[in-house]
Amino acid sequence: MATLLIVEDNDLNRDMLSRRLTRRGHTTVVARDGPEGLAKAYTSAPDLILMDMSLPVMDGWEVTRRLKHDPATAAIPIVALTAHAMAEDKASALLAGCDEFETKPVDFERLLDKIDRLTARAAPAPLAGTSRQRTP
Ligand code: MN
Repeated sequence: MATLLIVEDNDLNRDMLSRRLTRRGHTTVVARDGPEGLAKAYTSAPDLILMDMSLPVMDGWEVTRRLKHDPATAAIPIVALTAHAMAEDKASALLAGCDEFETKPVDFERLLDKIDRLTARAAPAPLAGTSRQRTP
């Protein structure tokens, strides 16, 4: 299971996502605006970030660009969340450095699949039959 940073300014969306992800065994950390999200990407060392793109103070595109330009945080997968299902929004999220994209309202099972896939890539599980050797 993964530590997930949820950057979302809408209280209902943030609480609902956090509750559902926690129920599935994940640990969640939350942030309510861009600067808080940026700070917590460093202090909570998340395995993955769920990034609402429309955020107060600093939007999700800017937070993503900053994280992806810093070698210390560039490897953290980011899933963009946006209410706009426009093709250009997806393109601009990916251009900013997001690894994946989900439109709101979120299809929760599909989001879980993406989280599993992206966090598995970041931290490969040991092969079956091998001893306890793991990459740190
Ligand atoms: Mn928002």
